[in-house]
Amino acid sequence: MVYFSVAGAFAQDLRALARIDVVQSSISDMSYREMKLSLKLSQAIPYRIFALSAPDRLVFDFKEVDWTGFSTKKAVMSEKIKELRFGAFQAGWSRMVIELNEPMVLDEAEMRVDSLGDGAILEAKFRLASPEEFAQQIGPRVEAGWDLPKSIDVAIPKSRQTGDKPLIVVLDPGHGGIDSGARHGEHYEKTLVLKFAKELKEKLLLTGRYKALLTRDDDEFISLPGRISRARAMGADVFISLHADALESGWATGTTVYSLSDEASNEASAYLAARQDHNDLLAGVDLTHQSDAVATVLMEMARVETKPRSDLLADMVVSGVAQSIGRLRKRPHLYAGFSVLKAPDIPSILIELGFMSNTRDLNNLMNTKWRNKVIEGIVLALDAWSVEDAAQAQLLRQ
Ligand SMILES: [Zn+2]
Repeated sequence: MVYFSVAGAFAQDLRALARIDVVQSSISDMSYREMKLSLKLSQAIPYRIFALSAPDRLVFDFKEVDWTGFSTKKAVMSEKIKELRFGAFQAGWSRMVIELNEPMVLDEAEMRVDSLGDGAILEAKFRLASPEEFAQQIGPRVEAGWDLPKSIDVAIPKSRQTGDKPLIVVLDPGHGGIDSGARHGEHYEKTLVLKFAKELKEKLLLTGRYKALLTRDDDEFISLPGRISRARAMGADVFISLHADALESGWATGTTVYSLSDEASNEASAYLAARQDHNDLLAGVDLTHQSDAVATVLMEMARVETKPRSDLLADMVVSGVAQSIGRLRKRPHLYAGFSVLKAPDIPSILIELGFMSNTRDLNNLMNTKWRNKVIEGIVLALDAWSVEDAAQAQLLRQ
């Protein structure tokens, strides 16, 4: 799974910098035209890549990297590099600058979270280019996961849905922009899940019972916290992230629904509280002037109510989809620490529609009939969930 994230992989010390693994980080030539950079980091962090001219440079900006031990001599194994510099850039941010012998452009970049939870790896590939092509990538790219979510005005409390208004469902097609997600041949996860999200949105709107919105409706990069912020700004009653990741082992198959694990849920509260932008964390509760401890407690309280609502939704999506397509994999509801599920106050699930690495799954994903069936199952699930959830809200009130 490809995640650009401030809250991506939680390190032991939640406030620690991302440390660079000097042994597993290098910049080397792939061919006479191509160069590859691999940086192993102790956790996933937001980054951006852009170019500067005179002299020709590639610039990497990162959220706080601890460069201890990193040495140009050991890391650089490319003929295409004249000089490499790195260090702190401004408060909270780090920069690495590669001065080039010849103009090169970025082909692809992705930050992968290690499947064993052991940090993250940034891989970027560059190729030789004409001066004109190089000129096109000059200047910071705003879309590359750099911008942290702006604080959104949350003065109006988001009250729990009670079934008397159309349910606001925010669909979040995974990845986008520079982050393609999984890839199989010419098929990209970011494109497949966007198509699915648009179809699901149409279906939900047709029922008249839902207001459906997308976090992105084109090939745009959004950071993970940015996705939650958008959902909140849209007034989400429910947040559904959509993915179709390839697993390297290749055996994984079928649809899986994730909700946040207890462990991740506890860590998330502490981590979010440690961030400065308290006011963006919890709708309706102004945490700006609260201490970390108070913010953590307030978020815990919201989470205690939200978590079973997310779990119920995940269970219902599992049975809805099982009902519409006939079968599911063995453990279709799993718990994980995905950042995108960490809103304390919005019931959130992540649906892995299938695994692009599996031929049957990929064929399913490409098949309109199959997609329609899954969509039918999700709508069924939302129907059942919204009624049950509203009934429970009533009980709480009495
Ligand atoms: Zn994905």
